[in-house]
Amino acid sequence: MDLYAGLPFWLIKNELYDYFNSLEKDYEIDVAIIGSGITGSLVAHELCEAGVHCAIFDKRIVSNGSTVASTAQLQYEIDVPLHKMIQDIGEDRAVKAYKASLQSITAIENLFKTTGIKGDFKRVSTCYLASNHQGLRSIKKEYEARSTHQLPVSYLDADRLEKEYHIKGLGALYNDTSAQIDTYKSAIGILKYHQKKHQLPIFSPVEIIEYKEQDNGYILLTKDGFKIKCKYVIVAAGFEAGQFLPKQVMELNSTYALVSKPIRPEQFWKERSLIWETAEPYFYMRTTSDNRIMMGGEDEEFRNPDKRDRLLKTKVSKLLKKFAKLYPAIAIEVDMAWCGTFSSTKDGLPFIGAWPGKKNMLYALGYGGNGITFSMIAAQVIRNIITGEKDDRIEVFGFERLKK
Ligand SMILES: Cc1cc2nc3c(=O)[nH]c(=O)nc-3n(C[C@H](O)[C@H](O)[C@H](O)COP(=O)(O)OP(=O)(O)OC[C@H]3O[C@@H](n4cnc5c(N)ncnc54)[C@H](O)[C@@H]3O)c2cc1C
Repeated sequence: MDLYAGLPFWLIKNELYDYFNSLEKDYEIDVAIIGSGITGSLVAHELCEAGVHCAIFDKRIVSNGSTVASTAQLQYEIDVPLHKMIQDIGEDRAVKAYKASLQSITAIENLFKTTGIKGDFKRVSTCYLASNHQGLRSIKKEYEARSTHQLPVSYLDADRLEKEYHIKGLGALYNDTSAQIDTYKSAIGILKYHQKKHQLPIFSPVEIIEYKEQDNGYILLTKDGFKIKCKYVIVAAGFEAGQFLPKQVMELNSTYALVSKPIRPEQFWKERSLIWETAEPYFYMRTTSDNRIMMGGEDEEFRNPDKRDRLLKTKVSKLLKKFAKLYPAIAIEVDMAWCGTFSSTKDGLPFIGAWPGKKNMLYALGYGGNGITFSMIAAQVIRNIITGEKDDRIEVFGFERLKK
């Protein structure tokens, strides 16, 4: 699958981890992780730290899937607003999903703090704009729902929004618990750390083309004809995980992003917040450590890569127009732009854990706008399943919900 096209910023900004280590014979390991992106690296981190023997297999150059195309905003706010999610899936599960996302950002922060890995993790605030009167009604309900459940949120009316953010709008929600990272630097940093500390084996390029369930585990077959015997398989194959799923659980879409040339630091808005909006398709933006503005959105409900790529120029113009509407005084020039595959699920939540009846194949599918925070939750839940710890997040994010 063609996961992205154009010039994804992280891949150009960072040095390529040009690691080549293909599999030359049959292999055996307790846990085989398929995928070396941000999800595979977080899963490997949790398992290595728990003393579980695991190895990573990837058909591409290491961490070269969607991970390099991400704009990498970490928010506890999920694509489906809490007040709507409560109606859709019930209060208990919706609140648990939001609280799990909130703790995930802290878990990612702690990972960087305790290991010293550099992933450009930075705590930032978020400003969530009402795009129109319908959006304003929605954020008012959202404010009530989040306040009721002690989730961090405050309301900015039109006056405060203009005074604090210099945005002429109807209103916004604010919280100071978000974060941002450089996804490629983070994924590579985590993998290198565990290659050194735990001798984590990484095999790349190695494509898994088939799998066979056994009494107590799996045999994976590689494209080069080798067999990998393992007790557990972790599917961290991102938007290409369909080949390992008995049934499609996500919709694949297209999305667009760009990064500006650096601007002067004093030109930025309050706290360099992440800014996003209620409109669909939405627009969002963040800043980078080298003073650029990164923005994205303009999603399309199709995955055809040719059609997706042809639209890049038009989508860049649309993103720039949206930015100019918010901040007409900040003149920017586009430095790089790219497009990518993206996915969403019906309820806005990821799929984590085993398919019913297949307990040794565990999925880490962080589908949706919060792919990275969902990946951290997946990594923790999967570690708990393998080490025999109870984790009730499985009731929120597991496949059993498809039966409801
Ligand atoms: C433009 C854009 C903006 C985004 N913005 C955000 C954001 O702001 N915040 C956020 O949280 N998320 C965001 N996302 C989503 C986020 O980037 C993804 O959720 C995340 O990168 C997925 O990581 P992954 O490791 O699961 O997938 P990938 O990085 O795609 O890694 C999966 C790996 O599996 C390998 N693989 C697949 N099949 C096989 C096989 N059969 N055998 C061997 N290897 C295989 C692939 O080669 C790949 O390297 C964004 C995505 C895009 C495209």
